Amino acid sequence: EINFFFPKQQTLAVIKPDAMEEHRERILEEISGSGFSVTQLKEMVLSREMAEEFYKEHREKPFFSQLVEFMCRGPCMMLILTKENAVEEWRAMMGPTDPEQAKATCPNSLRARFASDILQNSVHGSSNEQHAEEKISFIFGDISSDCRDHRKRYQWY
Ligand code: ADP
Ligand code: MG
Repeated sequence: EINFFFPKQQTLAVIKPDAMEEHRERILEEISGSGFSVTQLKEMVLSREMAEEFYKEHREKPFFSQLVEFMCRGPCMMLILTKENAVEEWRAMMGPTDPEQAKATCPNSLRARFASDILQNSVHGSSNEQHAEEKISFIFGDISSDCRDHRKRYQWY
């Protein structure tokens, strides 16, 4: 199970409510087809409080209340993705925040193909390792602390 030869990284991926009905299966297929291991997965409806906490970095943005409303309007799929360089690779697979920009610059990205607009943009991915750890614990609790302990113990990075 634990691979001692290649350093692995974890990121949190979310299939957002707008993509759950039409695009979930396709997105899951592409995730495994791109060499990510899905180490945890769950479907959940975020409460307003959870959505506010999850996106607290954006509290001051003009779109914050729309964003919270959108994120708790239906089920999300929460996934822990594990791969070498997972944070950056998942961000690259998602593409830019705005699907118009995604279509122009990364037409194969998930957002170019599946996002409706800059708010309802189909997927989320942590933007750095620290956010990944924080959001993984927030969504999944302490289940991944084992892995983190191992990584620290063996100084994988
Ligand atoms: P990303 O998800 O690409 O990291 P941000 O962290 O900037 O993007 O924003 C978080 C989420 O807030 C976006 O994925 C999107 O759902 C929403 N959002 C970002 N910018 C806007 C905007 N200008 N108007 C409405 N919603 C936005
Ligand atoms: Mg972000």
